[in-house]
Amino acid sequence: MTNKLGLHANVWVAGWSRDEAARAIAKTAESGFDLIEIPALSPDRLDPQNTSRLLAEAGVGATLSLGLDAATDISSGDPGRVAAGEAKLLDAISVGRDLGVSHICGILYSAFQKYDEPPTADGLKTSVATMAKVADKAAASGITLGMEVVNRYETNLINTAAQAVEYCRLVDAPNVGVHLDVYHMHIEEVDLVAAIEETGDHLVYFHTGDSHRGYMGTGSVDLKGAFRALARIGYQGPITYESFSSRVVGQPLTGILGIWRETWESGDDIVAHAMTFTRAQMKAAAESRRRSRLVGDVG
Ligand code: MN
Repeated sequence: MTNKLGLHANVWVAGWSRDEAARAIAKTAESGFDLIEIPALSPDRLDPQNTSRLLAEAGVGATLSLGLDAATDISSGDPGRVAAGEAKLLDAISVGRDLGVSHICGILYSAFQKYDEPPTADGLKTSVATMAKVADKAAASGITLGMEVVNRYETNLINTAAQAVEYCRLVDAPNVGVHLDVYHMHIEEVDLVAAIEETGDHLVYFHTGDSHRGYMGTGSVDLKGAFRALARIGYQGPITYESFSSRVVGQPLTGILGIWRETWESGDDIVAHAMTFTRAQMKAAAESRRRSRLVGDVG
């Protein structure tokens, strides 16, 4: 596998002031990761010039992640909100272009919130039509959009890999794909391994972590199965470690994600462990794949 390894910025910093950006990017480079995922819930508040200078100095790549909110929900029945959502996504794309990001991912297709009602057929249609327009702009900047599959408390539109694949088929743009996250899959999928396999070539971005969003391998996610499935489908995209602890995270993520506990105390330690654990899982998955293929040659 030649996947780039990424790190979500919230393991280092809660916000993106000049000092926070400098620290998060330097620490990411020092930890041996290829890219940093920058949360861009308010893309217009990033300072692309400063951030791209820091990235270039550190030799680190970047991706952006965001979720829309109620006022910018492109699955809403209110044309004003849909237009505001389209504008917000275009903002993120222009910031992404200035930063030279390969991917923008997250809950780009609806609001990032607990809904009180199921999605509507019209809402899905509006979201798909808006995403198709936005995808054209992203393609012009060489940016792939990852539709993150999240659990039922964070959206009502895409909770399973199968729903995300169907959404991407409807959008029908080569740069719109599925972003899977083991934490959410562990809640919603009937079979995590089969979901990765069935996503197949639609997969463009992958979040690792564990069931409590702390140390990998200390929760109940089938990470061994997940890494083997990634190897089996020949996934070449980024693998980004995402973890949240009340030690670092700030609003609005604390509230939306329900980060009430310290799942770790030290960013340095959780990141060092994530790197070791991820490399070991990838190596084991690749060897398992290679050796299972060799069996035929022996006999
Ligand atoms: Mn995620």
